Amino acid sequence: MIIDLRSDTVTKPSKDMLSAMMQAKVGDDVFREDPTVNELENRLAKMFGKEQALFFPSGTMANQTALKLHTNPGDQVICDTYAHIYNYESGGASFNSGISCKLIDGKDGMFTAKQVVEAINPDAYYYSKTSLVEVENTANRRGGTCWNYNEILKIKTVCDEHDLGFHLDGARIWNALVAKNETAQQYGEVFDTISVCLSKGLGCPIGSVLLGDSKIMENAIRIRKIFGGNMRQAGYLAAAGLYALDNNIERLREDHQRAKEIGKELTKLSIIKTVEPIETNIIIFELNNDVSEKDFIKKLADKNIHIIGMGSGKLRIVTHLDYTNDMHEKLLSILKTFAL
Ligand SMILES: *Cc1c(COP(=O)(O)O)cnc(C)c1O
Repeated sequence: MIIDLRSDTVTKPSKDMLSAMMQAKVGDDVFREDPTVNELENRLAKMFGKEQALFFPSGTMANQTALKLHTNPGDQVICDTYAHIYNYESGGASFNSGISCKLIDGKDGMFTAKQVVEAINPDAYYYSKTSLVEVENTANRRGGTCWNYNEILKIKTVCDEHDLGFHLDGARIWNALVAKNETAQQYGEVFDTISVCLSKGLGCPIGSVLLGDSKIMENAIRIRKIFGGNMRQAGYLAAAGLYALDNNIERLREDHQRAKEIGKELTKLSIIKTVEPIETNIIIFELNNDVSEKDFIKKLADKNIHIIGMGSGKLRIVTHLDYTNDMHEKLLSILKTFAL
């Protein structure tokens, strides 16, 4: 039994998901004739209360398209220091859109409306033009933390006052919705564009969707094409998304529960310095200074348990759909032996 807890992206489609994929009705999506892609897009647009949705091969491409839709070269986007768009999209913001990021050092990946106001550049020609604010929920690098919705509302007001776009990187919005008992509609109401991933907690092999109203989304399909993200019979992939929306959202609670249980066990170990608060499916922890990160990872790997380091002494465990109860019990019992 191999227990892979490096990421929630390691899941493979279940039998039932595969069967839904095999039965999909498909067509050429470049002609917009794939009924399953169209169904997935319509369903998600309705779910978030947006006029349009567009299916993408990756979350990175959906985010990069959003950045392009909201900005002109030379502009600046406000985001957290640990934002995915800044750290993990290969510098795409500058490469694709010619924009820079104004970083806010938020708390647990979240910043305040006041910090946004302070980060907006003055309206003078020699400043970079601030045109977009980007929020990540849950905040990946900060340990899957959920935003406070009231703060998002306040930031929205700031965006309106300063004529700024508002984009949500909702790669793991599903985890936040379940953990905080919020609705997709609430997010649709405040953000101009939202990217969501189907290939993380929801267990699809591939797929992300960008959502927005018609005006902002007008050029989305052209930009997706420029990025090379047009697909043909993508309905086989969209069918996995439809299956996941029906079956894999509510069960995220199990991932969250197991993550909390793992965190509790880690807290008891003397070799561990701190475990960051766990709200969803990501556990970030730090070893004591005298314990080698490499040795700890190897010790687990020798027992077929795989986790990853995040740099600066932090380690990460992510629970997911393919992490079963048997695996969970085995992991907890192995961690207990580390207490010696
Ligand atoms: C995974 C992820 C994405 C998109 O990543 P892809 O691997 O390109 O699908 C975007 N934002 C966050 C916060 C993520 O965790």
